[in-house]
Amino acid sequence: MATGSPDARLRDLAGRGLVALADPGATDLADFDVVIRDTAHLHGGDADAPGRCDAQPGRQRGEVLLVGGGPGPLGLLTLAGAEALRAADVVVYDRLAPLGALDLAPADAERVPVGKIPRGEFTPQEQINAILVDRARQGATVVRLKGGDSFVFGRGGEEWLACASAGIPVRVVPGVTSAVAVPGLAGVPVTHRAVTPGFVVVSGHVGPDDPRNQVDWAALAGAGLTIVVLMGVATLAAIAERLVVCGLPGDTPAAVVADGGLPSQRQVTAPLEQVAQAAQQAGLGAPAVAIIGPTVAALTPG
Ligand code: SAH
Repeated sequence: MATGSPDARLRDLAGRGLVALADPGATDLADFDVVIRDTAHLHGGDADAPGRCDAQPGRQRGEVLLVGGGPGPLGLLTLAGAEALRAADVVVYDRLAPLGALDLAPADAERVPVGKIPRGEFTPQEQINAILVDRARQGATVVRLKGGDSFVFGRGGEEWLACASAGIPVRVVPGVTSAVAVPGLAGVPVTHRAVTPGFVVVSGHVGPDDPRNQVDWAALAGAGLTIVVLMGVATLAAIAERLVVCGLPGDTPAAVVADGGLPSQRQVTAPLEQVAQAAQQAGLGAPAVAIIGPTVAALTPG
């Protein structure tokens, strides 16, 4: 806590950008007003960020928090995410968000479902952006709750830009991404010393033959990295085939993990060239993560 005269304390706060003085040229602070500034932008990466999510009575200006909810189980929501939810006036959530987390929001908080079912019903992104901006303009603290991390195939960047260009303060509360957590929950590390020096996360939303797919599969096949595929249940056979054509051995260990962290979690392990069929035979469906590379077998003793 700062000590000294009221002036010294104010100067300290002003110096750290926590308050602004109505007249910065003032020599005798007692004569001038102190303006409490919106400091959200000063704290983008603060570990204690959630402390500032507390409701501020009388506040005019809203903000949007892009909260990554983790892969599904409530235990994998971060403490910062939980804190943000507790302070929310509005929660905008979709199907992969941990729905148990909604109970953390105040009972009178508005809950807005924005469906996103694969190849099914969905709320257009523009409409979601508009909801975020609209509610924040009304002065609300808006939590946009998503599965995993907002910036990993979560369209969090688009929501950030929509808020920023509308002049709405926006922050991210990082989440536990399924790309790392779901393999881990199945006993598969994405890196392992002396086995794989790194990993890459790609979307299988569209198959390798689709012109919208911009992944350089040939480069991946030769990179020596663990390949983690999200949204790839329907395209896994085509992805595996492409990787093998590009030179990745067909007997490379691979796994598919569905419903990671949930009571319904299921997984199959098989050589790359058989893994899509094995997953299909086992009835594994979305959401699922596929992992391709020797780390799949790294924790199997013997
Ligand atoms: N932002 C999210 C990913 C969104 S894309 C994140 O960081 O995790 C949606 C994909 O995430 C799904 O198709 C699936 O591949 C993966 N996914 C999310 N939750 C999952 C879970 N509990 N188990 C398996 N895969 C999951």
